[in-house]
Amino acid sequence: MQIIPLPAFRDNYIWLLRDGSRAAVVDPGDAAPVLAYLAAEGLTLDAILITHHHADHIGGVAELLAHASVPVHGPARENIPGMTHPVSEGDAVTVLGKTFRVLDIPGHTGGHVGYYGAPVLFCGDTLFAAGCGRIFEGTPAQLFASLEKLAALPGDTQVYCTHEYTLSNLAFAAAVEPDNAAVSERIALSQKLRGNNTPTVPFRLAGERNSNPFLRTRETAVIRQAEIRAGQALETPVEVFAALREWKNGF
Ligand SMILES: [Zn+2]
Repeated sequence: MQIIPLPAFRDNYIWLLRDGSRAAVVDPGDAAPVLAYLAAEGLTLDAILITHHHADHIGGVAELLAHASVPVHGPARENIPGMTHPVSEGDAVTVLGKTFRVLDIPGHTGGHVGYYGAPVLFCGDTLFAAGCGRIFEGTPAQLFASLEKLAALPGDTQVYCTHEYTLSNLAFAAAVEPDNAAVSERIALSQKLRGNNTPTVPFRLAGERNSNPFLRTRETAVIRQAEIRAGQALETPVEVFAALREWKNGF
């Protein structure tokens, strides 16, 4: 199976899975790039996977369904127009012969789910390269727990998030930890990739704990910086996480 990025809007990736003449898509916010790719490659759409209800993730579902009546798997706790298969933690979804386990990863939205089929993870707007999603509907504790759940997956996991936010996330990571060599190295590597118009996604989970400040809330240097920004002592990793997320919102 191949996984292809279809760029959409300003910085979204719609992930297209293909195997033989069949294809599936994850978070089709726009139908146009999907339909164009399917036509150009002579592929038939087999399934749609949705991680959460935001328009840039589901906006193309209705038009795709007008072209092909296919199963739409999505978060049971959210209202997804066209959804045929609501899923939640522990469910299994088989797409193009590959089985994915559903993970509940709330925080960005209330019912956000991820799909994990080793070594592939589709995690929507929860974990980004060197960053994480904003908290729109959940709590800091929820998003923190969701990120820790994802970070506990095997190190060889390939993370397919849905935005190309890596360089701006790394600029924030460098502000949090100016002396973190893993951050500087990742900035150099990511600038090179973006300079060649190459996606920085997917990325390997193994290095994430070294350069993603939101997974480094137990590091002394990170705690200190978060406390300075928050103007108060922070007692727990969740408090540090919440302070970092607040800081990043205005960064
Ligand atoms: Zn979103």
